[in-house]
Amino acid sequence: MPGAYYTIARTPTMTVWERLYLPEIARGLTITMRHLVTNLIHIDRRITIEYPEQKPKFPQGYRAEHRLMLRPDDTVRCTACMLCATACPANCIEIVAEDVGDNRVEKRPRIFTINELRCVFCGLCVEACPCDAIRMDTGKFENSAYSRGEFIYDIKKLMTNHPEGLSPYSTALY
Ligand code: SF4
Ligand code: SF4
Repeated sequence: MPGAYYTIARTPTMTVWERLYLPEIARGLTITMRHLVTNLIHIDRRITIEYPEQKPKFPQGYRAEHRLMLRPDDTVRCTACMLCATACPANCIEIVAEDVGDNRVEKRPRIFTINELRCVFCGLCVEACPCDAIRMDTGKFENSAYSRGEFIYDIKKLMTNHPEGLSPYSTALY
């Protein structure tokens, strides 16, 4: 056909060494043994762990379930400014504000929910928050439940979702 472009698939030719078969078997086994020995030497760096008895170590900054930080008087730090909800690309944060009668903060969330199923764990909500009111440092990643509704975290759940050993209070100024 004029103008058509054809490529011819050629069968690769094997060298005499490869045709002998046994040397290639030996080469393959050498590679396998090399990986085995390397893994044994660096046994502490193995990727496979005995989960769930053994918990994975997460790098610093790993983004897990959210939590809402508290003030020293155990009220929520969030001022319902909506910046996190605006930044969220998955549109999974819902906030309804109410007045607090305090001129310093003016508002607080009456409703604050995060749909953890829709969340893509990008961390933009944490970045957007001007008062360190929301964090994703819980290390909680084992998300399982019997219904989808259990993944919609309300304000109570978020205010108490603090892992053992991590303070629920922020050191931010206000
Ligand atoms: S981590 Fe990302 S997707 Fe999840 S709630 Fe925050 S901004 Fe939205
Ligand atoms: S969590 Fe932070 S960014 Fe989101 S509404 Fe509250 S104060 Fe604003």
